[in-house]
Amino acid sequence: MWVNHYLPEITQPEAERILWERGLVLIPTGSVEQHGPHLPCGTDALGALAVGRLVAPRVRGLLVPVGPIGVAPVHLGFAGTLSLKAETFMRLFRDVCLSLTRHGADKVVVLNWHEGNTPTLLTVAGELQAEGRARFLLIQVARLAGELSGRQERSSHGGAVDTLAMLAHDPALVHLDRAVNPSPPEAGTIGGLPPQGGAAYAPIADIRVVAPTGWSGDLAGVTAESGRALLEQVAEAVVKQVEAVFGV
Ligand SMILES: [Zn+2]
Repeated sequence: MWVNHYLPEITQPEAERILWERGLVLIPTGSVEQHGPHLPCGTDALGALAVGRLVAPRVRGLLVPVGPIGVAPVHLGFAGTLSLKAETFMRLFRDVCLSLTRHGADKVVVLNWHEGNTPTLLTVAGELQAEGRARFLLIQVARLAGELSGRQERSSHGGAVDTLAMLAHDPALVHLDRAVNPSPPEAGTIGGLPPQGGAAYAPIADIRVVAPTGWSGDLAGVTAESGRALLEQVAEAVVKQVEAVFGV
């Protein structure tokens, strides 16, 4: 029987029971930022949460919100983008983790859909782990989706992977007919990430340096059905990783 594991939607006794069963929590992290004219601004947050909803019951973990907003200064040139400073996000993430560890959570799985969050998440995870509060596993679910999609544009912003995830979440939020202005495909180093396999890292201040329209990608062939299949694959892969690190 499917049981809801999403903390904001369940009662305190239910949450406590899940927490005490195996001390495992899952925290989706994303962002609210421009994703071109065709995707919702909450794409990263909604994508991470969608994966979390699939995974949490299967690993018997408590699915916990940290809020939809992340660290996204490179997108602030576009109205509709929200960004926390790294220190704000670190405090938020730390406070949420500490609220959980005092009630038995000792295993924290972060499901991150937004690369801009990564340095801060790793810093806090490292600190809390060193303090002996909990063990951490950070899974880059957007990157995982890119790999599993088999598509070339693995690190694009607003491209096929983001679009497939949103089609899986709610097709009404996706407007493929408006996706008429992708930036050139070489906009692959979005967010200052090195190209696949690259060793050099050159942070950028504004997404428009690499993607003038804010997004790039090839949306040919994306459907809600293939989106749901992709998220299911991602969920399965996440379950395997969680089991490999924290046991069954
Ligand atoms: Zn993002």
